[in-house]
Amino acid sequence: MMATTHAAVGLLLALPLTVVAPELAPVAALAGLAGGIFPDLDLLAGVHRRTLHFPDYYWLGALPALALAVVDPRPATVAVAWFFLAAAVHSVTDVFGAGTEARPWERTSVEAVYLHSRRRWIRPRYWVRYDGAPEDFLLTVVCFAPGLTQFGPTLRRLSLVGIAVGGGYTLVRKRLPAVEERWL
Ligand SMILES: [Zn+2]
Repeated sequence: MMATTHAAVGLLLALPLTVVAPELAPVAALAGLAGGIFPDLDLLAGVHRRTLHFPDYYWLGALPALALAVVDPRPATVAVAWFFLAAAVHSVTDVFGAGTEARPWERTSVEAVYLHSRRRWIRPRYWVRYDGAPEDFLLTVVCFAPGLTQFGPTLRRLSLVGIAVGGGYTLVRKRLPAVEERWL
């Protein structure tokens, strides 16, 4: 799945707080956005879907942080908890996309995400056929929808940016490998 979908899922994870602790919902949504994007920074350095993807170990941060946020609900504890939660959910949900190859619609890679505790790659499930597929963009839109109405003006703007970036990426996705091969 593309980074905008992971960001949108991170935001969506903050939706329950709009009911139980509305004053903390925006900070949770911002932290969820950041945590949803964070693992994919390993596209820039290291091994993508391995260096910053931890489908197992992020939970070791997320679960105690969530417990602390329940016991002591403040912006700081909520931000840390939702950051780790979104990064953990991102790392797990990459399993339901494609592999790490440049043209994931060809399905030649068996590497969806690296499971550090077992020192092996998990194979892709292709529920979302590849990052930037039409269904991936649909997920971005659906998961960002609460961001348009439930968290205030800053998150509304960020949600619109996310939907626009996801839409642009979806439009050019299949042309990207050729562009990369030519220029990089
Ligand atoms: Zn990822």
